[in-house]
Amino acid sequence: MSDVAERWQSITAELTAECARSGRSADEITLVVVTKFHPASVVTELFNAGARHFGESRHQDAAPKVAELTELDLTWHFVGQIQSNKARAIAQYASVLHSLDRDSVVDALAKIEHRVSGFIELNLTDDPGRGGVDDANAMLTLADRIMSTETIDLLGVMAVAPQEVDPEEAFERVATMSQILIQAHPNAAAISAGMSADWQHAIRHGATHLRIGTSITGKRPSSG
Ligand SMILES: *Cc1c(COP(=O)(O)O)cnc(C)c1O
Repeated sequence: MSDVAERWQSITAELTAECARSGRSADEITLVVVTKFHPASVVTELFNAGARHFGESRHQDAAPKVAELTELDLTWHFVGQIQSNKARAIAQYASVLHSLDRDSVVDALAKIEHRVSGFIELNLTDDPGRGGVDDANAMLTLADRIMSTETIDLLGVMAVAPQEVDPEEAFERVATMSQILIQAHPNAAAISAGMSADWQHAIRHGATHLRIGTSITGKRPSSG
């Protein structure tokens, strides 16, 4: 078995164990393997090991990779910042968009001809320049705009825990924001949170979608 396949198996085993410890069912968790900067061959190896959900963060890297892999039955997730002029193209291959954070992106997606699923990205940093909405009001306003489209199914909230913050604190904040969103939109109950360094904390705080890269794929061949 390849190193990548072995790491996939060990993460899925750890995930099952962590769910048991947290009183959750592994069936409620979608493990998205983030394959940014890795070639299509890595996706194929992971597919052969059983992975079905894959995530990418840059359209220009993702588009040719997805095109190489059309014969595999994969679900592509887009986890990076979405430029509104790329939103339509991204929605051609990604059926789940984790990083809806602006009116212009929602408006662009409102005009596509099929349905996609989306998360509202929360900004947990103090830097307003980072992707994501800053507070509950902004989240609810964006949620209303999403609900007014006929093309986006709102799944819930997404966040990246800032490196300088205790992940417990970060994911508690995400859980609180999720509760606020659920009060307004009961079906938008999913939480996309948890990466290689902190996914166990995310499980304990209700994450339904994990986005795990390096601890499965290994170090990225190039950074960016
Ligand atoms: C790269 C990336 C991940 C995966 O990060 P790892 O630390 O490699 O697990 C998850 N979410 C987003 C938004 C990313 O850009």
